[in-house]
Amino acid sequence: MISEALKEKLNSCFGCANPRCSAGCPLNMEIPQIIKLIKANDLELAYKKILEKSYFESVCSRVCYHDKQCEGSCVRNVTSTPVNISQIEKFISDWGIENVKEEMPDITLSKIAVVGSGPSGLTCAIELRKKGYDVTVFEREEKLGGILRFGIPEYRLPNEIVDKVINNILQYGIKVETGKTYGIDFNLKDLQNQNFKAVFLGIGNDVPKMLQIPGIDKSGVYGANEFLKNIDEIEFKKVIVVGGGNVAMDAARMAKLKGAEEVTVIYRRTRDLMKANKNEIECAENEGIKFKFENLPSEIVGNERVQEVICSDNEKIEADTIIMAIGSLPNYKQIGAEIKLSDDELINVNEDGETNIEGVFAGGDLVQSRATVCLAVKTAKIAAEGIHKKLNNTNIGGN
Ligand SMILES: Cc1cc2nc3c(=O)[nH]c(=O)nc-3n(C[C@H](O)[C@H](O)[C@H](O)COP(=O)(O)OP(=O)(O)OC[C@H]3O[C@@H](n4cnc5c(N)ncnc54)[C@H](O)[C@@H]3O)c2cc1C
Ligand code: SF4
Repeated sequence: MISEALKEKLNSCFGCANPRCSAGCPLNMEIPQIIKLIKANDLELAYKKILEKSYFESVCSRVCYHDKQCEGSCVRNVTSTPVNISQIEKFISDWGIENVKEEMPDITLSKIAVVGSGPSGLTCAIELRKKGYDVTVFEREEKLGGILRFGIPEYRLPNEIVDKVINNILQYGIKVETGKTYGIDFNLKDLQNQNFKAVFLGIGNDVPKMLQIPGIDKSGVYGANEFLKNIDEIEFKKVIVVGGGNVAMDAARMAKLKGAEEVTVIYRRTRDLMKANKNEIECAENEGIKFKFENLPSEIVGNERVQEVICSDNEKIEADTIIMAIGSLPNYKQIGAEIKLSDDELINVNEDGETNIEGVFAGGDLVQSRATVCLAVKTAKIAAEGIHKKLNNTNIGGN
């Protein structure tokens, strides 16, 4: 079952006593132990070691920024190439989802509401379910998964994998209500009236930051998330993407892949200062995407729909679609004005992941500015522990 190529990757690990790879992983995944267990052919135990840290490794092994985390920290990186940790984790987590079923305690504890079904919401849900809580996930869309399904392109993360990861979590008796938007269809009071003893908010940040320039409200201007989610319904030929991060690269590459004649990325700094992975930038360049550096759109021109963009160096670029990929913010209206924000306009939580409203916890992109899947998992795990601690301490509703 373990291929020769994989054996070679496994054998390249020194099994360091103080593994830098684990220190470089935001989840502190016990990488050398996992490798050792796979080498000993104890695949089930290796997979269970992964589950101690995350139910999203089939996702993270495909989309984590390994060169900046575990692989970038691997001691072998100093003199040669790092252990190919991402491929090892992909193998064992994909295998585990297909082959391992966990024992779960009966559901005997309080009702908990999880709002949002991205990696943060579903992590909080499974961590609480493992303790015996009665968890319901409320989701605005008809399908679960958040950005994993509607944002990250299929060529990096197939929906088939997203489905498997989600089904693996849901099989243990987590309830789901889709088509329900917090702040519109229901609110905190409704949840409290339905006897939910704690609420986890994991609704991400999907209000795009927009440049405040003339013409920004014309049709054809989209936030990156909105564009990627609805790409099959949008008509475009000449596309401009504003931003220099991975989200900008995803939007630009997807636009090209879906048939755009011309895609130009406009970024305010130099190529070297782009936040996107070098590999993504190179792929975009090879695919014919143009880049305009040290520039920003200063005006969007057109009648109802965008026709051209005037840049800060006065160059005019013809375009029918403009995608803003310069960051996003929480939907404050839906979250409610009572929740306190941090200085960086995200939701403020304490060390247990609790907001200023007692019993309301939050995690994922709502609470941290370095938005990644593994940090969404990490913050949700903190909140799940925080909810358990709170309900144990206060014993609200006889836990
Ligand atoms: C295009 C793109 C590419 C990315 N690529 C990577 C990558 O390669 N690697 C990486 O690590 N990270 C990547 N990220 C970041 C990563 O996807 C996020 O950090 C992560 O998904 C955050 O998880 P979350 O659970 O907090 O929020 P989300 O994934 O945004 O999930 C939030 C969920 O809440 C639902 N929701 C929203 N509002 C409501 C409401 N009012 N009521 C009910 N439900 C609601 C949404 O429909 C959604 O399902 C990328 C992000 C984008 C946008
Ligand atoms: S740092 Fe590299 S060699 Fe050392 S245990 Fe981690 S993966 Fe193996």
